[in-house]
Amino acid sequence: MKISVIGAGQMGNGIAHVFAQGGHDVVLIDIAQASLDKAMATIGKNMGRQVEKGKLTEEDRQSALARITTSTDTATGITNAELVIEAATENVDLKLKIFKDIDAHAPKSCILATNTSSISITKIAAATGRPGQVIGMHFMNPVPVMKLVEVIRGYNTSDAVTSTVMELSRAIGKVPVEVRDYSGFVANRILMPMINEAIETLFQGVGGVAEIDTVMKLGMAHPMGPLQLADFIGLDTCLAIMRVLHDGFGQPKYAPCPLLVQMVTAGKLGVKSGEGFYAYTPGSKDLVVAPAFASGR
Ligand code: NAD
Repeated sequence: MKISVIGAGQMGNGIAHVFAQGGHDVVLIDIAQASLDKAMATIGKNMGRQVEKGKLTEEDRQSALARITTSTDTATGITNAELVIEAATENVDLKLKIFKDIDAHAPKSCILATNTSSISITKIAAATGRPGQVIGMHFMNPVPVMKLVEVIRGYNTSDAVTSTVMELSRAIGKVPVEVRDYSGFVANRILMPMINEAIETLFQGVGGVAEIDTVMKLGMAHPMGPLQLADFIGLDTCLAIMRVLHDGFGQPKYAPCPLLVQMVTAGKLGVKSGEGFYAYTPGSKDLVVAPAFASGR
């Protein structure tokens, strides 16, 4: 299948990776050439790790990489696409604009999917002239490792498009789960309020960063504490999702913690900016609490 992926950030590069490895031709599109260069380097490195572990041959790695081309122009990057998967920044206005643009340039039969974590599929679909062909394909981070794809049907998504996307997800080794289109779907409806509550717990001084994460790791057998997970997801993305839940359900329990808002305003976005609840040094795997929280406040 000819697949175009829009947005070459941490999710876009993973999506391009799994489809290329699954034998599909992929055009990876981003407005920033630097993001494309970084994405190709990351895909090469991550596939290299699979080769080291014996999960991929070097020959297959080379052919998968050769199936990915890049473009900074959306219109030309989707001209022949059978499926477009949008994985650009989590921002409603941006996504609506991108979908208008995709709808104008993609072939009429092309399926338009979004990797949004929380924005209404029905709303995104309404920006196009083909709402029956618009669907959510919510991959988990890191995409090459995580098995789940939350497949979200918008109000108008057709049965045929849903079964094509479910089948395609299975064919690349994922486990798709079909859900309905309400704010946060299932994954983030449950995960994000927990992360927000962990931040609120830190904000109130109930526990420090390491203490909160240790309680959840050892007490609930979570592989990663909620604050580390927030850093990994990106604090800007976490904030955007909380705002969608808050707007969508209008309940105060979804109000983002003021500390989360403050950190995003200060540019502390987690792993991708080098600092969030923890400080990240390139090349180091040590988990070091960020200076702002080092005194345990
Ligand atoms: P990111 O910030 O790492 O990457 C976003 C990329 O989109 C950037 O490279 C940016 O240059 C590009 N971009 C912005 N505007 C664009 C445009 N008009 N055209 C093309 N490219 C454009 O973000 P991310 O973490 O990869 O998240 C992307 C999407 O995936 C969001 O919708 C997010 O909610 C969703 N998502 C994220 C996670 C996660 O754990 N980070 C998990 C599941 C889903």
